[in-house]
This record gives sequence, structure tokens and C-alpha cells, in this order.
Amino acid sequence: MIQETIRVGGVETFSTVDFPEKICATVFMQGCPWRCPFCHNAMLQDINADSGFVWSKFVEFLKTRTKLLDAVVFSGGEPLVQNGLETAIKQVKELGFKIGLHTGGYRPEHLEKIIPLLDWVGFDIKAPFIDDKYEKAIGVCVKTQLPAVLKSLDILLASGIDFECRTTCDPRILSIKDIENIAVFLANKGVKKYFLQKYRPIPSDTQTSDSDCEKFFVDKEFLSSLQQKFEVFGIRK
Ligand code: SF4
Repeated sequence: MIQETIRVGGVETFSTVDFPEKICATVFMQGCPWRCPFCHNAMLQDINADSGFVWSKFVEFLKTRTKLLDAVVFSGGEPLVQNGLETAIKQVKELGFKIGLHTGGYRPEHLEKIIPLLDWVGFDIKAPFIDDKYEKAIGVCVKTQLPAVLKSLDILLASGIDFECRTTCDPRILSIKDIENIAVFLANKGVKKYFLQKYRPIPSDTQTSDSDCEKFFVDKEFLSSLQQKFEVFGIRK
């Protein structure tokens, strides 16, 4: 039964920010194999943690919102971890909602399987595509993970689906040069939409100041060079 295999860590019943230009509900899927140092959702990392949220109840809620919401976003955690994701998406799609996915590209074979069901993807790019940089950003050994991320990016590009790449600008692990390198790589690949997200210090980070976090957003020349590389470029604070 789907209710037993989908593990939900939390839900947002109304959001205007998780799916561009759509009003949506967001389901935060339990489980993530990565340990990003800037993670605000550490409670979602352990797939076996009991959140108290039940998938079937979320579906029942969605049935009451078919005329009020445009879309449902599967976020995380890392939704691609869960084998029941495809069934869950189909269940939601049958209710008439558009489907969004937030992912870091873990498990490209799973992404490839579900991509025909998706309407939009928010793809997290954590660092430049260099082993030690990516490893620092995702907090686990990158040997199999970086090829997986790159393969997922290729799958998105080949699919023609509407998607954006976005990077959380954590000054503890990324420099302006790192962001430039990411942007050049993505633009050369053919990515059209790129967003920078401001890092909000996690509770245990008492060292990083607001001006440290802002440094990515005050350099006009840097921002203008990014703007020129993409059809859509934006900043989320
Ligand atoms: S991928 Fe997302 S949920 Fe997983 S550790 Fe990183 S920030 Fe947290």
C-alpha cells in the first residue's frame, strides 16, 4: 500500500514560492543521503524518523483543494530517495494538479523514470562540479554522487522540461569565483534559468554574519555577468 511506503516529513498546505507562478501545496519527503552544512531540514535526513505526518491524510487534504491549488511540489529531504515517489506522484496527478519536484539529482535513474510525470523541476546545484568542492557542500563522499548529479542535469536538459538550477550561497563553502564557475558550466550546458539563494545561518552557525551572506549580492559586475549568461537569472533572499 502506498500509505506504508511514502514517508512524509512535513507539509506546507499553501505556498506561492515553491513552484514559479503557481499556487501550490508542498510535501517534504522524509529521507536524504546528503549532509549539506547549510541544511535547515536536518530532521528530514533520517528516512526512518517518525514525523507524525501520514501520506494518505495529505492526499485527503488535496482532494479538498482541487479548485484552490494549481500544483503540488515534492520537496525534501531528497524525494528521489523514496521508491514510492512515482506512485505518489501519479496519485496526486490524478487529482488534476501540476507536479513540481525539488531535487539535488541523487539517483538519476529514478529521475528519468518519473520525469514524464513532472511539470517543473527545481534543481539544486550545491557547488562547482569539482570533487572536493562538491564533497564539502554535500557532506558525504562524492565519488558516485557527482556523476549522478551531472547525469541528472543531462536528463533534465534532454527532456525539455521546464526547470531551474539554483545554488545556496553559503560563504563558508562557496566564493564568488565558485558561483561564476558554476554559472559558466551551466550556461555552456544550455541551462536557461539560474537563481542564487541567500544562505540563512543554521542555528549552530554563530560565526557567519549577515554581511558574509550578502557578499554575493552586492557585487554589481558579478551579478550582471550572471544575468547575461541566462534567459532568467534571479536572487532569492
Ligand atoms: S540535500 Fe537538502 S535535505 Fe539533504 S542535507 Fe542537503 S539541504 Fe538538507
